[in-house]
Amino acid sequence: MKYSHLFGPVISRRLGISLGVDLVPYKYCPLNCVYCEVQRTTHLETERREFFPLLTIIRELRSYLQTAPKLDYITFSGAGEPTLYSRIGEIISFVKSEFPDYKLALLTNGVLLNDPDLRRDILPCDLILPSLDAVSQSVYEKLNRPKPGLQSAELINNLISLRQEYTGNIWLEVFILPGLNDTDEEIYLLRDAIAMISPDIVQLNSLDRPGAEDWVGAADSATLSRISDIFAETLPMPVEIIAKVEYSKPDHTVDAQARDLIRSLLIRRPCTAEEMASILNLHINEISKILRQFGAEGLIISQREQRGIFYQWKI
Ligand code: SF4
Repeated sequence: MKYSHLFGPVISRRLGISLGVDLVPYKYCPLNCVYCEVQRTTHLETERREFFPLLTIIRELRSYLQTAPKLDYITFSGAGEPTLYSRIGEIISFVKSEFPDYKLALLTNGVLLNDPDLRRDILPCDLILPSLDAVSQSVYEKLNRPKPGLQSAELINNLISLRQEYTGNIWLEVFILPGLNDTDEEIYLLRDAIAMISPDIVQLNSLDRPGAEDWVGAADSATLSRISDIFAETLPMPVEIIAKVEYSKPDHTVDAQARDLIRSLLIRRPCTAEEMASILNLHINEISKILRQFGAEGLIISQREQRGIFYQWKI
């Protein structure tokens, strides 16, 4: 069966062996984060819709999971915001009733969690990984570039409501970008907001491949350690730095075929990640993971041009 909504499994640094489920079209999202690794948002959206027929996605999941693959998580993620899919709750119920041994994870920016029905729909997930990068509205607008009208205070309230209603694990990601949200003032505001949200773990991340804008840089390890120390002073939950992990040991059993395909393409000509996804019929997130591995292994170079970031094999 050809899968349009499933990708991977990929080896995820946060989730282990993760089967991705993509529920929305490319770059439909309420935010347009400057660091987004799948590039700029083309559809700045807050309206939830059934972008693809529910039965198509269920058919793909059933066909794949019937083969009893070894997975740590089935993860709602992709190249847009998964909670925009209006029938996500029915997909969660389907997996939990027909394949109860599999764990479900949801990667979300949390913007739409002001909707109590959506919060109720995602309660059966085993793990929710929301993001919070800014507390002050001015930083939120510079860094996450929300759809006009969206407020950072509302996002924080959404996450507090989620915590009050959801008994599973919440791992909150904070993406640190130099010159944007690494000032003491913003870090202390973040710390106060995180205390109110009360996630199970805080994960500090930064850029490890080109983001949506070429002026965005990665936070260095001293900055991440400083922020981790400030958080750990008063926050009771663990604070982890997940940026700049080792990619030198990719899982060849999972990635080997895709790595070979990408390598042979890049040897012949430079390509953007989107072109690779379309030519090789692989999901953009799978391409992104492998490009990160290749980058960390020093095998490719990247160059930003008008049509996007082009990757080339180093000769
Ligand atoms: S990083 Fe996530 S929330 Fe931000 S623009 Fe990309 S897909 Fe949307």
